[in-house]
Amino acid sequence: MAKSSGETKFTLKLVVDKENNKVVFAEACRDFVDVLFSLLTLPMGTIVRLLENHRKSEPEPIGCFSNLYKSVVDMGIDDFETEACKQMLLYPRSLRDVECKRLKLNLHPTDGIKLFSCSSYSFCRTRSVFITSRCSCGKLMNKEILYSETKSVDYNIEDGVFVRGRSVFIITDDMKVAVRSTDLVLRKLKSVGCGDFRKAVERLVDIGLDEVMTLLECIFSSNAPLTDAFLNKQVPKRVVKTCKMSSPYLENNIDESKEVITFSAIVRKHDRKVLYVECKEDFVDLLFTFLALPLEYALEISGDISTLGFIGNLFISFKELRATEISTSQVVLPFYYTCQKQLLNITVEQPLSFVRFHDKEFVVLIDPKYRGVDQSTKARGFVKRDTKFTVSDDLIITPMNSSSALCILKELESQAEDIQVQEMSINKTQARSLLRASLVTSSALNAALWNSTLKKPKQET
Ligand SMILES: [Zn+2]
Repeated sequence: MAKSSGETKFTLKLVVDKENNKVVFAEACRDFVDVLFSLLTLPMGTIVRLLENHRKSEPEPIGCFSNLYKSVVDMGIDDFETEACKQMLLYPRSLRDVECKRLKLNLHPTDGIKLFSCSSYSFCRTRSVFITSRCSCGKLMNKEILYSETKSVDYNIEDGVFVRGRSVFIITDDMKVAVRSTDLVLRKLKSVGCGDFRKAVERLVDIGLDEVMTLLECIFSSNAPLTDAFLNKQVPKRVVKTCKMSSPYLENNIDESKEVITFSAIVRKHDRKVLYVECKEDFVDLLFTFLALPLEYALEISGDISTLGFIGNLFISFKELRATEISTSQVVLPFYYTCQKQLLNITVEQPLSFVRFHDKEFVVLIDPKYRGVDQSTKARGFVKRDTKFTVSDDLIITPMNSSSALCILKELESQAEDIQVQEMSINKTQARSLLRASLVTSSALNAALWNSTLKKPKQET
């Protein structure tokens, strides 16, 4: 993946606490800060994939996201509405891809959008961004053409991709980024007991793609990301997660919409623990949408960023330093990522069922979830309708036709008397809570549904 020759390298100046061998802060140019912030624009599915490629053996999992991604990998094409649905989850597209082209070091370069059509394009006039989508004529769309984007982003030449101005920046070991000032430097040095400047030394390090990937991994798993990534040059094994979910996330805003997704939770009676849930396609569609969310949106939706650890710190800095005035709080995804039940308040990009092609022609873009003429209704979700799935506490999703009922129950290592099936539903607030839980814990269902299992089951009438 990495281009070993001709790859851009940044030189970072680390200020190191000599005694404790810890990075106090790093001094970086704007272009590097842009690369750092670009991590936030990557879809969650892309982050999982890049980290797996980076560290072939046992990458540190990000909450439940590695399991979600693996569930897509393991599910057969038949379990998805179309073959393209699997593709769009494994290789999610982001509306930020265009902006990222201006980066000095792009972690996830996309060479122009490829468009696909069926073999009778002159008749159908429709295209798709994903290969093996179904055309409205029913044929598979696998004829590729390269399409040079005409969409340009307005930007100030003095600004970076994401960062305003041309300052020098300071990145601290807890991933806060700020414009460098003497005051800030003094405060940082004093805060770690380096008030006597002889205790601190400067080290220069070269940072390329590989090092940025290690840093990304460390942001999620280390207690000192800069120190571990650039000084120790290793991801710590088995560390205590700095992100915590002390109590279920409760929101004060009353959820006005009545939209819910229902499922059966298999609950262990004695400790009220959700062992797994049995659900239909709408819940799986919701969980799979998580993979298409760029990290910044996943953080935005999950709320209370200040408690999300280092990645939360980075996101707060991103918002403070950003170049454009565009609000980051609006979650915008490509149109084909919306599903029938929309619990995440995702806004869809411009009515982009049309794209400008070669600056003159307008092309109708088809939703890759669309199954073709045999289905009169429009595209609804990623996975096949009227299918049942099981979802484990750590979000491993399995179609129920691929496992036996007794096998599932035996794996629980519980007695039948101790197991209870409880009907549950989640609304928008709980869907956000579930997203947050899947980012910070490997026990997402229990963290998010904790409140619901305490409720007494409905009295039978
Ligand atoms: Zn066609």
